[in-house]
Amino acid sequence: MMVEKNGSARMIKSINPATLEVNAEIAATPLESVAGIVEQARKAQEKWARVPLEKRIELLQRAREYVISNIDEMARVITQDNGKTIFESMNAEIMAMLDTVEFVSKNASKILGDEPLKNAIFTLSGLKSRNVFEPAGVSCVISPWNFPFANAWQEIPMALAAGNSVVHKPAEITAWIGDLTRKIFEEIGAPEGLVSVVQGSGSKLGAEILKAGVDNVVFTGSVPVGKKLMAMCAETLTPVTLELGGKDPFIVMEDADVERAANGAVWSAFFNAGQVCASAERFYVQDKIADRFIDLVVKKTKSLRLGNGLDKETDMGPMISEEQLDIVDSHVKEAIAAGARALTGGKRWDGLPGFFYEPTVLVDVNHSISCMVEETFGPTMPIMRFSSEDEAVALANDTRFGLTASVWTRSRERAERMSERIKAGTVTANNHALTAGFAVCPWGGVKESGIGRVHSAHGLKAQTTIKNVTFHKPMSSKDLWWHPYSAEKFNGMKSLLHFQHAKGQGNRAVHLINTAKMFLKFLK
Ligand code: NAD
Repeated sequence: MMVEKNGSARMIKSINPATLEVNAEIAATPLESVAGIVEQARKAQEKWARVPLEKRIELLQRAREYVISNIDEMARVITQDNGKTIFESMNAEIMAMLDTVEFVSKNASKILGDEPLKNAIFTLSGLKSRNVFEPAGVSCVISPWNFPFANAWQEIPMALAAGNSVVHKPAEITAWIGDLTRKIFEEIGAPEGLVSVVQGSGSKLGAEILKAGVDNVVFTGSVPVGKKLMAMCAETLTPVTLELGGKDPFIVMEDADVERAANGAVWSAFFNAGQVCASAERFYVQDKIADRFIDLVVKKTKSLRLGNGLDKETDMGPMISEEQLDIVDSHVKEAIAAGARALTGGKRWDGLPGFFYEPTVLVDVNHSISCMVEETFGPTMPIMRFSSEDEAVALANDTRFGLTASVWTRSRERAERMSERIKAGTVTANNHALTAGFAVCPWGGVKESGIGRVHSAHGLKAQTTIKNVTFHKPMSSKDLWWHPYSAEKFNGMKSLLHFQHAKGQGNRAVHLINTAKMFLKFLK
């Protein structure tokens, strides 16, 4: 990404991170137009909220048909703008979008339907009460560059189905993919202002969008920006969901299928060149099988083919930028200076002009070095050994993050036991992070990995405000708890509470009689 002035317009250049060629130029959104965009989104939302759910779903179905009809073009743009392999564009980005639309289309009516309530307190039996899931209003969806299409399209359909309009802020470095989203809504004839894509600097546009006043924010990105955004949202008490970083552990127990664990480890560390919030970034292997596991992962890592993601035979593409590559290189250099060994990789790959880093397996690491505690966000696999299950759980939990974790074991019982003890939003046995791509599963972290959940019924409901609506068909001209108060009413109320809650204590028959008397006297 490069920013240049073209006349009065500020243009964002999309650069292919594999070749450094310019893909496209996208106009940045002038800051002074943001208030108008949010105002237009608000007007569009007022109309959209009155559109029946089936019609909202029809729009999402048109988006799905458009993507399916243009699937090769979609995958190409994602790969050229972001660098990931074309298989990953198809598998992780486009699949997640289609799965979300499918989930929302099939389930929104049930999830967002009114929820009738049963009254437990018989004094309120004249009430007909229900929960209604109303649209939040204007939803602001801010997404990162590492899954620029999926992260936008896992949120936008949820917001639209719930009756919201959307102001979408894609990452500047993948502005071309953000523009693809704009184009899809334009091509399918979405109402004007229903989905607006604002392009440019995160901090400036973010502040401007919040200043203009949105009704909720779904942010996917880094911990520091997430914290800043939460502080800004606190000013107006705007609800915010934060999907942030991770330092996810991958734990291989001695009873695991070691061959499968090694295959899974290589994918979990090097998929998307390791630029995944849910990448496995810390590997813990039980002593007895550690040598075999390390031999296997080194062999498999050496066989990965680096290259231009557009080539369907490429296993790993470039990193997004020089800055990201520098972070990875600094983590590796720091580890080696502290006594770690790189069994393969450990340096830049120069087969193409772009930002490539060799997939790197590190051993002799510990929790005092960055590669085991800070988010590396690149193709590294640092491996530590452990001896007992307790030690593995303690190592996994020794972090300020808690997004996802995986345990590799043949024992269901052990997997369940360890899942209970590991502090994370998601724990998977014998696979890693795959549920992030399934719309039916909630996604989100604990500790500094975020707050709230996206995807699933929980993500859909997070796009609403819950309103409780009650109709009272009264039994009398007054209610028991209304004035005037008296000692007799007090004793009657006490009897009612005893009858309802002090089961087995005192004389229930007396309490029932006193309660009935109170009803007859005060509800005449
Ligand atoms: P980032 O925080 O730098 O940027 C994310 C988005 O926020 C971008 O669109 C950016 O322009 C915008 N932004 C930046 N400053 C802003 C501000 N002050 N106000 C409003 N918006 C602002 O993150 P990134 O580098 O694009 O993405 C990588 C990070 O995202 C990693 O930490 C990764 O772990 C995380 N991530 C998390 C998940 C998850 O589901 N938990 C998924 C993908 C990525």
